[in-house]
Amino acid sequence: MSTPDGLPPLREVIRALGLAAKKSLGQNFLLDFNLTRRIARAAGPLEGATIVEIGPGPGGLTRALLLEGASRVIAVEKDERCLPALAAIAALYPGRLDIVAADARHVDYVALGPAQPSRIVANLPYSVGTPLLVGWLKTMPWPPWFDRLVLMFQREVAERIVAKPNTKDYGRLAVLSQWRTRTRILFTVPAEAFTPKPKVDSALVELIPRDTPEPACDVTALERVTAAAFGQRRKMLRSSLRQIAPDSEALLEKLGIDPKARAEDLPPAVFCRITNGLAG
Ligand code: SAM
Repeated sequence: MSTPDGLPPLREVIRALGLAAKKSLGQNFLLDFNLTRRIARAAGPLEGATIVEIGPGPGGLTRALLLEGASRVIAVEKDERCLPALAAIAALYPGRLDIVAADARHVDYVALGPAQPSRIVANLPYSVGTPLLVGWLKTMPWPPWFDRLVLMFQREVAERIVAKPNTKDYGRLAVLSQWRTRTRILFTVPAEAFTPKPKVDSALVELIPRDTPEPACDVTALERVTAAAFGQRRKMLRSSLRQIAPDSEALLEKLGIDPKARAEDLPPAVFCRITNGLAG
């Protein structure tokens, strides 16, 4: 079977490398070029862009990104079994693919030297998708080094990222994501599209950094506030916030926020105001 780039089909690559999928590494591969090219186009325009790809695996999305015109891809992969497949792609696109054999949780992304504009595009491993996103959202300084995140998550996580107040999915992840970025689900991908097939569907999410998230506040302190508030999401704020603000009721009243409100009722900006109020 021929492929658009002339490299062997992914099934063959996987067989040749003996790449039995490891659940611990969240290995659910996308083998259909039409789908990976659709994801690449959704992250476009790619001309002139540096793409940091997390978890390229045998290289399906990597190949699509390069085919669709990415000037440079920096691919961060933890599983060394994938490296020969990635080296073959690098040989086909001289100077356009850098392979970083590392755990994406411990990479200093700025030190990788991504030229501007740069963005992160990935079919993320389920196991570490949320911590990776939270790490990127907490990037300092802000605006960050990336101009966009285009990321595949389990559908349930995708829905938590874009959730609005007063919905069951609204929580810490929505507050942090929507305060710092504009979020939307681009499209959903059925479980059948992955090999091996996971239990749940996935969705591709776009997050575009806001230049100046409003209101400004300290991101670490904001995390503390949302952890307390959503840790007891059905409780009124005056009681859920007591662990970090003994006089929470007075603080909320001073800020003009109803102490009887619940965390899930409030938009991201209100959590920033509480954070700033706590800082005095
Ligand atoms: N991009 C490929 C695709 O779309 O078919 C593979 C995606 S698969 C869902 C996730 C990939 O992330 C795997 O290749 C896995 O080895 C890699 N991975 C898992 N944990 C990682 C980590 N902490 N750092 C870097 N890569 C990781």
